[in-house]
Amino acid sequence: MRVGLGHDTHRLVEGRPLILGGVRLEHPRGLYGHSDADVVLHAVTDALLGAAGLGDIGDAFPDTDPAHKDRDSRFFLEGALERLNHGGWRVVNVDVTIFAQEPKLGPVKDRIRRHLAELLGLAVDAVNVKAKTGEGVGHIGRAEAIGCQAVVLIDS
Ligand code: MG
Repeated sequence: MRVGLGHDTHRLVEGRPLILGGVRLEHPRGLYGHSDADVVLHAVTDALLGAAGLGDIGDAFPDTDPAHKDRDSRFFLEGALERLNHGGWRVVNVDVTIFAQEPKLGPVKDRIRRHLAELLGLAVDAVNVKAKTGEGVGHIGRAEAIGCQAVVLIDS
């Protein structure tokens, strides 16, 4: 068995959709990035790659590649899963913490959990999504950014 850790942060800006864990949320601002800037899928992708010793999302899918502009981050997650499967690994469980002062994620975290489970091909109870605010402190607390941490366990 192997464990992998992923972390990501993106800035909250006007004029972008807010997509977390592949779920599009109603919010006046969204996350800025080369792809769709889905911090949740980026953190989970990095955790998967990390667990299998396959580097990071930037190595696998460079943000200098125009093909990845505004790309649905599901592409990165599926690419990482494919690499793991080729290496004989399967995902056991995923635990995610999203850090956001706004919007309030309590009402949507179950939707995100179910969608993540579907993307990963896992039972819902093998995926967990937690939400924290920034307690009004720092870039998260000032609602300038949203962050995400993910940890995964894989087995061969
Ligand atoms: Mg990212």
